[in-house]
Amino acid sequence: MRGLIIKEAPMGDKDKRLIMLTREIGKISVIAKGALSPKSKWGAASQLFSYGDYVLSKGQSFYYIKEVQLIESFYALRNNLERLAYAAFMAEVAETLILDGQENQMLMHLLLRGLLTQCKTESGAESLVADAFVWRALSENGFYPELRICRQCGRRMDAFPAVLEPMTFDFASGGIVCGQCKTSGAGVRLTSGGLRALQYITEMPMEKIYSFQAEKEIQKQLDEAAVGYLLHQTQRQYGSLDFIGNLRW
Ligand SMILES: [Zn+2]
Repeated sequence: MRGLIIKEAPMGDKDKRLIMLTREIGKISVIAKGALSPKSKWGAASQLFSYGDYVLSKGQSFYYIKEVQLIESFYALRNNLERLAYAAFMAEVAETLILDGQENQMLMHLLLRGLLTQCKTESGAESLVADAFVWRALSENGFYPELRICRQCGRRMDAFPAVLEPMTFDFASGGIVCGQCKTSGAGVRLTSGGLRALQYITEMPMEKIYSFQAEKEIQKQLDEAAVGYLLHQTQRQYGSLDFIGNLRW
């Protein structure tokens, strides 16, 4: 079964418990027996971001690794703290959005492409890759945002976007509210450039969203919209976000 490790934790003092993302059956819990021993043959195969063909046996609560052929280890993430932090955030988001046993090829493809992009990302662009992933992952998993018409008055936003500034992306309704209407709750202010960036990442073919470039101000809006919408919709804490916060200081 082709799988990507998105979480690893020690289990007892010999084994590792992994969360693996698969094409066929979504997210599964896997035990790598003896993986904590330095001589273990599962050393590389049981690391975060290892991607390969795994032969698994099914126990009562877990799967167990029997054989593995590694395809990619995303090594370039491991020798750069910024890349690693944002990649870990992407993995945490994927873990949240994919349900146990539920096939989700699209999200796995989106994550793999994002990790490959993150491996060669220039310094300073790590958050942009992560935000593109988060925004698109939310869009494709039940939280498709309304970015074309105002949620309140129904005005089309693409006709005269500059006239309708400042726009707000409203987290609760998952849509845009024009500058002439009032928003009800938490959201993020957008310029027309910020709105266009969100539309691009939502609507373009997946192959294009990671080659997206943006100036600092647009990046900031995108980051606030992606992270804010994620936190609002998934209602959980992300340990990797705290880590990223610490890196920035
Ligand atoms: Zn309006």
